[in-house]
Amino acid sequence: MNRPIPIERFVAYGRWFQARAVPNLEQRKVIGIAKDTAGFRVVLADGELLRCGRVIIAGGIGPFAVRPPQFAGIPRDLASHSSEQRDLTSFRGKRVMVIGAGQSALESAALLHESHADVEMLVRESTVQWTWQRPWLHTFRPLGAVLYAWPDVGPAFISHAVARPSLYRLLPRWLQDSWRAKSIRPNGVGWLKPRLQNVTISTASPYFPRASGETRWISN
Ligand SMILES: Cc1cc2nc3c(=O)[nH]c(=O)nc-3n(C[C@H](O)[C@H](O)[C@H](O)COP(=O)(O)OP(=O)(O)OC[C@H]3O[C@@H](n4cnc5c(N)ncnc54)[C@H](O)[C@@H]3O)c2cc1C
Repeated sequence: MNRPIPIERFVAYGRWFQARAVPNLEQRKVIGIAKDTAGFRVVLADGELLRCGRVIIAGGIGPFAVRPPQFAGIPRDLASHSSEQRDLTSFRGKRVMVIGAGQSALESAALLHESHADVEMLVRESTVQWTWQRPWLHTFRPLGAVLYAWPDVGPAFISHAVARPSLYRLLPRWLQDSWRAKSIRPNGVGWLKPRLQNVTISTASPYFPRASGETRWISN
């Protein structure tokens, strides 16, 4: 198995790549884009206006962090979004509830547990979904290539349709919806599972605690 890359090395590589690929990087926030006859007007946070013929937006998921309305009345230092946390060791010795069962939730719970927080997870679905529990199914040739397309998004076989958008568009809508739900549902990567063995996970639960369902690990 590949060894994890230390964060410092990962960041240094990113900076090295950026310096060579896009040395003229602007690090200012875009607050508005408008079309005019000559192309686009791009407004930056410091008020400068840039003009350009084309715009490609690759804003990522950061601005779309969802904070459920149930938490609107709770101070942010008591109920935070996982993207706001940088160092989970600050929760050492505290009781923390993690809500959700995607990679962010599962990884946060593992790190909190390893930081000696008293952590519990609440999961709305009846099960926690895991991917890559048997890595050889993805990598062993030729089997891996038959089961999973190279982008490796979605369950076995369905992954081939997901990797071909032109084909996917031709499928009936009910099948698109069904495979979409299976392919991008919240899940965690298999190597996290052992790190959560001693964390209480209550499934079939809404955002707030109620009678716990049975925790059942399932694989794909
Ligand atoms: C916990 C977690 C784990 C993940 N693990 C994996 C994984 O293992 N493998 C994987 O493939 N993906 C993973 N992802 C998803 C991965 O982070 C994203 O798919 C990837 O970073 C998206 O790249 P991007 O370039 O689209 O966006 P980002 O990397 O988010 O980059 C967007 C950039 O746009 C900038 N930006 C946003 N708005 C503005 C603005 N108004 N003006 C100027 N700049 C702006 C942001 O500052 C940022 O630098 C994970 C995500 C999370 C949250």
